[in-house]
Amino acid sequence: MPPKQAATKVGNRRPVIAGRLFLYVFGAVLRYDSRMSLTLYNTFSNKDEEFSPIEEGKVSMYTCGPTVYGRPHIGNYSSFLMADLLRRWLEVSGYAVTHVKNITDVGHLVADADEGEDKIEKQAKQEKADPLAIARKYTEQYLEDEKALNMLEPQYRPKATETIAEMIGIIETLVAGGHAYETKDGVYFAVESFPDYGKLSGNILKNLTAGARVEVKEEKRHPADFALWKKCIGANAHHKLRWNSPWGEGFPGWHIECSAMSQKFLGKQIDIHTGGEDNIFPHHECEIAQSECSGPKPFVRYWIHKRRIDIGSTSSPRGVQKMSKSLGNVVTISDIQEMGYSPLDLRYYLLSVHYRTQLKFTKKGLDDAKKARRKIMEWMAEVEQSPRSDADITSWKQKFSSAMNADINTPEALASVFDLMAYSRNEGVLGACREMADIIRRTFGCFDTQQEQAIPTEVLALVQEREQARSKKDFEASDRLRDDIAALGYEVRDLPEGQKITPM
Ligand SMILES: [Zn+2]
Repeated sequence: MPPKQAATKVGNRRPVIAGRLFLYVFGAVLRYDSRMSLTLYNTFSNKDEEFSPIEEGKVSMYTCGPTVYGRPHIGNYSSFLMADLLRRWLEVSGYAVTHVKNITDVGHLVADADEGEDKIEKQAKQEKADPLAIARKYTEQYLEDEKALNMLEPQYRPKATETIAEMIGIIETLVAGGHAYETKDGVYFAVESFPDYGKLSGNILKNLTAGARVEVKEEKRHPADFALWKKCIGANAHHKLRWNSPWGEGFPGWHIECSAMSQKFLGKQIDIHTGGEDNIFPHHECEIAQSECSGPKPFVRYWIHKRRIDIGSTSSPRGVQKMSKSLGNVVTISDIQEMGYSPLDLRYYLLSVHYRTQLKFTKKGLDDAKKARRKIMEWMAEVEQSPRSDADITSWKQKFSSAMNADINTPEALASVFDLMAYSRNEGVLGACREMADIIRRTFGCFDTQQEQAIPTEVLALVQEREQARSKKDFEASDRLRDDIAALGYEVRDLPEGQKITPM
């Protein structure tokens, strides 16, 4: 079943690209190659699997976004960067990716639990501010950090507070189907109604029951039953953000938010769902239960999770610990800048380690990343300045692609870049590496010049669409798209190598 596509918007008007397409941007030719075989490690099957999307040439991808109650730390960003890298590689490989990354601005309770305070309402009390003002403030800060880390803008960035009707709709379906029930304080999902519960995380019900305490006041039928909707009564009587529902005034549980937001924009079945490994349980396990009991199976074809980041050393008093806000050992983007590094040095550092390797963050590691990034950028500048050459470097391109296609093996891909740097200098074939340099630049996103960063994705999407029109000799559409691009402040010139884009 193809996913139901949401209303088209400019950033989503990317054509399916097969074969080769040349796009001339600031003197550089970017070539889109036919799709190659990509394998990804699927947390659900615990296996490397060949990637094959629901709809040929298209990828629907959902990333669990931030809960906006404070500034995310670099461990959180390492997970978002992994998703950004995967999306970039899919796009470089020719897929049209629709990426949804949400903002959680209500319903995420402390300790990811069913009881306790809402993280945002708690922060609002501390700062003596309105919860929505808190969410706005930390959303803005988050978006600034994303920009500094050169992450691509998702096609859709829904907020939980704007998707309440869809959540209520799914909960009603679950109640009607016998998968959820109402209690005094909310509506809960009945885990025993879903035999596959535990398949993602391995937390099968038998294990969860052992040692779990059943809180009688919750009236839960099983200790692992989780909240879909919390009523504004008892401990939550003063919850500020509240909506009417068939079960009275209340607010959603955290897990239902992602089921609703992914379904709204990507349809009931999606290709890729990403998140940090901390999200596997309970968050993603619960998302599967909700989505598959209210829609078709599988909800997600490939579950991709980023390993966590550690900090500290064995000789320090606290030893090596997971980087976490609750442990008070977090490093933020501002800390990185104050240490004298660019956020793009951090981007390189976090992406240079394989996403399923547990990175221990050190200043030495960041320092090495900064030096390596500089070396690659110097080489890219030399490539740009060298006269064009048609020496054959196909095997180098294949090495890079095979590494990226092997479950996004970035250490191997970067090793091939350093080998190519040495080879191209020794053999005097720098001028043959322009296309390769662009593939590396677009894949990693940390070698961009300021000018390239400034080209908005919607302009690039229109340029791609125009290329398609030109190849079909549809000059009317081509002229109209030139005007659309001009309206966004960019001039297109048609050169023998392709289109050249410059700011007007
Ligand atoms: Zn989520």
